Amino acid sequence: MPTIAQIAAQVRPLIREVQAEQVHRDRTSAAPPRIVDVREQNEWDAGHIPGAELIPLGTVAQVAPEKLPRKDESIVVHCAAGVRSAVAAYQLQQLGYTNVSSMAGGFSAWRELGLPIEAPLTRAQLDRYSRHVLIPEVGVEGQRTLLASKVLVIGAGGLGSPAAYYLAAAGVGTLGIVDSDVVDVTNLQRQILHSTDRIGEHKAESAKRTLQALDPDITIAPYVERLTAGNVDRILASYDVIVDGADNFPTRYLLNDASVKWRKPVVHGSVYRFEGQVTVFKPYEGPCYRCLFPEPPPPELAPSCEEAGVLGVLPGIIGTVQAAETIKLLLGVGEPLVGRLLLFDALEMSFHEVKLRRDPKCPVCGEHPTITDYIDYEGFCASPADWREQHEAVAGKTA
Ligand SMILES: [Zn+2]
Repeated sequence: MPTIAQIAAQVRPLIREVQAEQVHRDRTSAAPPRIVDVREQNEWDAGHIPGAELIPLGTVAQVAPEKLPRKDESIVVHCAAGVRSAVAAYQLQQLGYTNVSSMAGGFSAWRELGLPIEAPLTRAQLDRYSRHVLIPEVGVEGQRTLLASKVLVIGAGGLGSPAAYYLAAAGVGTLGIVDSDVVDVTNLQRQILHSTDRIGEHKAESAKRTLQALDPDITIAPYVERLTAGNVDRILASYDVIVDGADNFPTRYLLNDASVKWRKPVVHGSVYRFEGQVTVFKPYEGPCYRCLFPEPPPPELAPSCEEAGVLGVLPGIIGTVQAAETIKLLLGVGEPLVGRLLLFDALEMSFHEVKLRRDPKCPVCGEHPTITDYIDYEGFCASPADWREQHEAVAGKTA
């Protein structure tokens, strides 16, 4: 069988060739030609002529009738060096196209002349994210989306560590990390962003060092502060998705109220000994945290990791599920855990799912919300009954 180069040599006298400078002049003219790139997807991804369209050589005959419906249109085909495009130009001529030329020297000639090139990802990004780019649901476009995305991780602890680690590795372009704590030796059994030499360092700063070592090109914004009613609007404002790895109820309720206010999805996770749960709170599309838990449980029924203990690997599993849900939300693929609570049991090694519904009487996202501003979250979580009494008294006065 003859090679492409042999075929090209045979057909070259039968086709018209055009120089790259001429193509560049024509493409900025009043009647620009259609520029068809007949290279392969991976070559296209590494850089292409702005405004060109990709029709790999092997598909030309098949897709030309649909993609190039006008046979008298001015068409310039090009490849890397002018070999494949000579064959493509000949194929198109045989199909009845009357105004086709092949760009001599191909994309190499174009590049050597310093003419404009559009590259969705840099060579380094194509290499780093090559296993994402291979997945049709991600691809170059999806990776660009991730690189342009901003995710806020609440807590650089057990859940925040694996979640932030994988999100950084996935190329989420901006990661905010909120944590006012410092690294303690008891954290190291599960909080994998930190290390022994960081004991005493702020977790948000330690997280930044680890994540930046993984990928120096993404932006890590550490917030060495506790989320409060006073700073939540400022901190949340620029983020697309929030990962909740908080370890206390006041922060969870505050985060819920703020995320409903700003309509930002929260990927929620929690752990207890061998058990964990994950769900996605997408404001007004599914329930919010308050729809499920109008009030925090009494402290004796909801011990913290510090009180109850947790299997070190458990937040790794749950935090990684949170990272997966976050990436799905950013890419708009798959079925996120909206209205679904995923329950994991490490002893049984089982996942179960429970359907969740919005509560029309929810005080925040319900039909007649009664909590329309930030509240005293510490007071509310310390004694919901006392807080309710006071809140109703105040609401009654202002009504
Ligand atoms: Zn709600």
